[in-house]
Amino acid sequence: MSKILETYKKNTPKSAKADARARKSISGGNSRGAAVWAPHTLMMQEGSGSKIVDLDGNEYIDLINNYTSLIHGHAYPPITEAVTRQISAGTAWTANNEWQAELAETLIDRIPTAESVRFGNSGSEAALLALQVARVVTHRLKILMPRYGYHGAMMEFEIGSYDGIFNFDYADTTYLGTYNDPESFEKILAEHGSEIAAVFVEPIMGAGGIISATPEFLARTRAAAHAAGALFVCDEVVTYRMSTGGVQEILGLEPDITMLGKLIGGGFPVGAIAGKKEYLSIFDPESPKSSHSGTFAGNPVTMAAGVVATRELTKERIEHMASLCERLDASVIASARKVGLPISVNRSGSLMNLFFQDQAPRAVQERDDSQAMSRFYMASLNHGVLMAPRGCISLSTVMDEALIDEAGERVAAAMADVADELN
Ligand code: PMP
Repeated sequence: MSKILETYKKNTPKSAKADARARKSISGGNSRGAAVWAPHTLMMQEGSGSKIVDLDGNEYIDLINNYTSLIHGHAYPPITEAVTRQISAGTAWTANNEWQAELAETLIDRIPTAESVRFGNSGSEAALLALQVARVVTHRLKILMPRYGYHGAMMEFEIGSYDGIFNFDYADTTYLGTYNDPESFEKILAEHGSEIAAVFVEPIMGAGGIISATPEFLARTRAAAHAAGALFVCDEVVTYRMSTGGVQEILGLEPDITMLGKLIGGGFPVGAIAGKKEYLSIFDPESPKSSHSGTFAGNPVTMAAGVVATRELTKERIEHMASLCERLDASVIASARKVGLPISVNRSGSLMNLFFQDQAPRAVQERDDSQAMSRFYMASLNHGVLMAPRGCISLSTVMDEALIDEAGERVAAAMADVADELN
């Protein structure tokens, strides 16, 4: 057996037992596909700041922060205080709460194209809401998005990432273009524009491997969408963290609808759409053209957490995270080279994705380093570092240089273990 795997099993017997139990009652053992791995997924018991502890008492530097949603790390005191106060006042009611308008106002102040907002409970719901707006506005049904883009856990949006596993013809719902290839989008829109309600694009493909769109790709795709009478939806669920106004502020991009999620819920389930009043007014009960509800939409706990998390994401903190990420990137590359492993890193702001190949692939689905990546993932856990199994890293505002240097040392030790096994 691989020494890396042996060490992982030796270190995590309580997680192994808890994982075996979960698999008996939950298909696959966990309701969250992006948080499952072999031979068993870790069971965590406690997170604080940039550290997290598993059932066996092993402590990890958390370099993924719940896939970007914990922008201020675990149990950030100002969020914990706001939420604790709200929880003791009740967690949900069939009426409104003031937090919701506060969060909406904060987003409208910050995001250039946000005039009005609606909240749901996940980024996936945000995609469905954006699609609903586009369908009502255009009287069309279909979607155009990039292959390997990610907008949520619905078949019509996941088709590009899991080609072939769905047993229906995806052309019934979804056209797929090629990321960063504006011509591919222009061609589909020229041929099928009259069926397409909306074009969905992430300004940086997150799940696809932290791949930045070129400004030209975004501008041409938006123009082609509009020429075809379709809406242009910018998915900033992950990328809102790049500036206080999202990537659209940096690029001067003007989407019709912006999708939000992750960090704007302060660690609680959230999703939102933002855009022109004229579009979002379809949900206004006074002149309804559509409907939107949800037992937990805009609930006071998420909204209280979201206000604090969003307001405390300042320009200075965004720059701080980006400089830490640059430091970690340099250290990861140096460590890989030292032990003779091929390496490439995609990095943008506080996000990065590493690959054990000389050139980063077009998307994680096209990577050819799976063996090295899976071993490195496990070796990192053995050395007390948690990241995404695909090599994605997302920093938080509560990290500092000393922590990043410690993470870098642990990553170097993990790389040495991988090189020992593979070389
Ligand atoms: N859009 C993007 C860009 C995402 O990365 C995600 C989640 N990873 C979603 C939408 C869906 O969000 P959720 O998981 O909250 O449904």
